[in-house]
Amino acid sequence: MDPIVDLDFIDSRTPEQAAAAPSCDTKITAETNTGKSRKLYIESYGCQMNFSDSEIVSSIMHEQGFDTTSTIENADVVFLNTCSIREKAETTVRNRLGQINYYKRKKPSMMIGVLGCMAERLKKSLLEEEKIVDLVVGPDAYRDLPNLINEVDGGHKAVNVLLSREETYADINPIRLNSNGVSAFISIMRGCDNMCSFCVVPFTRGRERSRDAHSIVREAEALVAQGYKEVTLLGQNVDSYKWESEDGTEQVNFAQLLEKVALLSPTLRVRFSTSHPKDITDEVLHTIKKYDNICKYIHLPAQSGNSRVLELMNRTYDRAWYLNRVDAIRSVLGDDCGISSDMIAGFCSETEEEHQDTLSLMDYVQYDYSYMFFYSERPGTLAARKLEDDIPLEVKKRRLAEIIEKQRECSLNRNKRDIGRIHRVLVENFSKKSDDFLSGRNDQNKVVIFPKKDYKKGDYVNVFVNDCSVGTLFGEAVE
Ligand code: SAM
Ligand code: SF4
Repeated sequence: MDPIVDLDFIDSRTPEQAAAAPSCDTKITAETNTGKSRKLYIESYGCQMNFSDSEIVSSIMHEQGFDTTSTIENADVVFLNTCSIREKAETTVRNRLGQINYYKRKKPSMMIGVLGCMAERLKKSLLEEEKIVDLVVGPDAYRDLPNLINEVDGGHKAVNVLLSREETYADINPIRLNSNGVSAFISIMRGCDNMCSFCVVPFTRGRERSRDAHSIVREAEALVAQGYKEVTLLGQNVDSYKWESEDGTEQVNFAQLLEKVALLSPTLRVRFSTSHPKDITDEVLHTIKKYDNICKYIHLPAQSGNSRVLELMNRTYDRAWYLNRVDAIRSVLGDDCGISSDMIAGFCSETEEEHQDTLSLMDYVQYDYSYMFFYSERPGTLAARKLEDDIPLEVKKRRLAEIIEKQRECSLNRNKRDIGRIHRVLVENFSKKSDDFLSGRNDQNKVVIFPKKDYKKGDYVNVFVNDCSVGTLFGEAVE
């Protein structure tokens, strides 16, 4: 197994899977040339929500006279869309700002902006601490970018980190960045009201608000018209999506929204993330079952398998509740439904026995994969204020290694079940290793590699799976 000591998160997927659906990854803008006078380069860190926000930012900046570039040297404006979720994510951005200084010295007119969660968390202090930064913009203030850019053009530094209770950017048509032209993300809500004690998101992204259901459906419709085959509906807690029209005559919950999007086209695959164990309803499970094009795959982060730790985490469910939700998934959607999780090792005061409960929960659920982290205390969170971060780093890392090992075991078990069966695969790209092979995903979000023959990106292909590794299925296309 790979050494894990200097990473603060490990994701059990292969590089192909990570490329298909990155979690803690970095993305940069692609080249667009529509004749605009200035060039924008955005580097996005962290979650899919951030990648989706960068598409909104690109759209606002396009109106303002910017094309995007993938080459930092060519940029007039450089934005880092940042993540604060763990200390490591912030350190990475600080180091990156140091590297960007090199380009700014060569091109002093280059404007440097910090966007996203770090902007909101560190506010004005970022301008003081990082001298090369010209503007700092929080996740709810992107509409103000034109004014802020003007301020910087006028020789001033600019900040707007105001959080909003209403902003959903519903009317902004995102410019798809790094898109494979097959799958796209749609933000359906912003912020989070949950206050898990370890988590900085409610502070950096503000209160939860749901986006106008009609604007979501319109965005999905436009994607279908452009030839997209898959959309992922995004929110920190999609199950608490609730939208009401201004006159109060229309109300849409998450199950109803899923249905509206699924009905747009039978060949559009619909995915969603993230489901919260306390909120996922049987209505959602039955809606997933009802429509073949809603993927049978649920990201249901447990965080821990121990009820006392879950209470300290303020997750508002216990082990028994979580297992009941897993049983409900299995009884409505069957054993083939993919389930994945997020796990945190070494949360405040976690004992060895409590850590064992996480491993036994994993044994029970048999997750297809997980995103696994060791606990990183974040300033301002409930845990930072009320609990002692008392598990030594080497213990956190050892527990994380055990969780990763358990996940590898579960992933392999789950993948072996897929051998000898035909899977419907949506082709996303060539395989990383060879252009003679294609890479796509099955319903359960697993990467499947198979010989190309005459198939191409965007095709649905029936693949007979004959082999697997921990992170990938291998097979042959069948008619
Ligand atoms: N809203 C999602 C949920 O509740 O499941 C999670 C969103 S958060 C951006 C992604 C994951 O980061 C969390 O599920 C958690 O496992 C991890 N995470 C958040 N704060 C963390 C911290 N302080 N230390 C380590 N991992 C953390
Ligand atoms: Fe953070 Fe909890 Fe909200 Fe997820 S549900 S974003 S972990 S506060």
